[in-house]
Amino acid sequence: MAFTSGRHFLQIPGPTNTPDRVLRALSRPTIDHRSPEFAQFSLEVLEGLKRIFQTSAPVIVYPSSGTGALEAALVNTLSPGDRILMVETGHFATLWRNLAVELGLEVDFLPGDWRHGVDATIIGKKLTEDEKHAIRAVAVVHNETSTGATSRVHEIRKAIDRAGHPALLMVDTISSLASIDYRHDEWGVDVAVGCSQKGLMLPPGLGLNAVSEKARQASKSARLTKSYWAWEPILAGNKAGFFPYTPPTNLLYGLREAIRMLEEEGLQNVFARHDRLAEATRRAVRAWGLEILCADPEEFSSSLTAVLMPEGYDADDLRGVILTNFNMSLGTGLGKVKGKVFRIGHLGDFNDLMLAGTLSGVEMGLALAGIPFSKGGVAEALDYLEFTRKGKVSR
Ligand code: PLP
Repeated sequence: MAFTSGRHFLQIPGPTNTPDRVLRALSRPTIDHRSPEFAQFSLEVLEGLKRIFQTSAPVIVYPSSGTGALEAALVNTLSPGDRILMVETGHFATLWRNLAVELGLEVDFLPGDWRHGVDATIIGKKLTEDEKHAIRAVAVVHNETSTGATSRVHEIRKAIDRAGHPALLMVDTISSLASIDYRHDEWGVDVAVGCSQKGLMLPPGLGLNAVSEKARQASKSARLTKSYWAWEPILAGNKAGFFPYTPPTNLLYGLREAIRMLEEEGLQNVFARHDRLAEATRRAVRAWGLEILCADPEEFSSSLTAVLMPEGYDADDLRGVILTNFNMSLGTGLGKVKGKVFRIGHLGDFNDLMLAGTLSGVEMGLALAGIPFSKGGVAEALDYLEFTRKGKVSR
């Protein structure tokens, strides 16, 4: 590859750009993970994570990718042959379904068109029909990273309650945590799954489970095979700030710094920043005359926008042109929408000028790749960014 000067624009929807403060924290010398210094440090990180999930429940940290933490959520709470309800919101919901099937669970997978989030009324109907309470869990993706549709988790909670059903609620918050408001306790979620490389602005390598008391109770009788993923030995060690295995100390240094940054900005401000940059992105897309994959404006994602290509044009060809010419990576289309969409990640350590650069790269790329579109998307986005800087909400 030829040398390219300047910083790479990593505008995929995770891993996200790692801020310099976090990079510096990651580079500190590793310490003894059985020392009092480590215990004090890890207790601080574990407490901080609770605030990010907006919970008083414990959060478990695995040295793993997000998929490991998705597996951990299932094996800790369920037994072979248990029925669970999942919804086909897109590629990541499908992968979680496949994982559950491989573990020996009976999955009722509600079909979806990959353009919408979860319909809470269907969940409510399914649970009401399940008079014998055979369904043990409802497991959904909060922000479907393959499509850019965000589901309303609080409505799913309400639907479960209205049906008077005892199923556990499990939520994949991998691309929403620390970018889109997620309230673990208020929404009565039993297991939330997160990871390091998205809103938490870290490299990949940490998987997270926030675990309610009800989920811990369920884990006592859960019979799916587990050892490394088992919550209880980890929670027992974590009480004193230790882990039953060698923890990823340097990623935890980075996590402490990331939590400090998120709290210096203020979580609500972090969410508002994501909402605003997402809206600017959508204005650009519309001005280009292109279509947003997510079909319901109520479900537009603040972490990423998936953009449909005009008929007959391949999204990966466009991504290639943009990478070669502008040293920018955009997200590829996954699964059913491969080649049909490209995804603009606008989450994590990201601001107005980074978005301006990102959208400029897309607009120039569309022109260079010969895609039929209208110029002026960047100008629309800049207008919106400028206008909202003046303290106005919308125009
Ligand atoms: N779920 C969602 C919503 C994701 O966005 C991803 C990754 O992008 C995953 C699951 C899988 O996580 P990982 O690749 O870290 O295993």
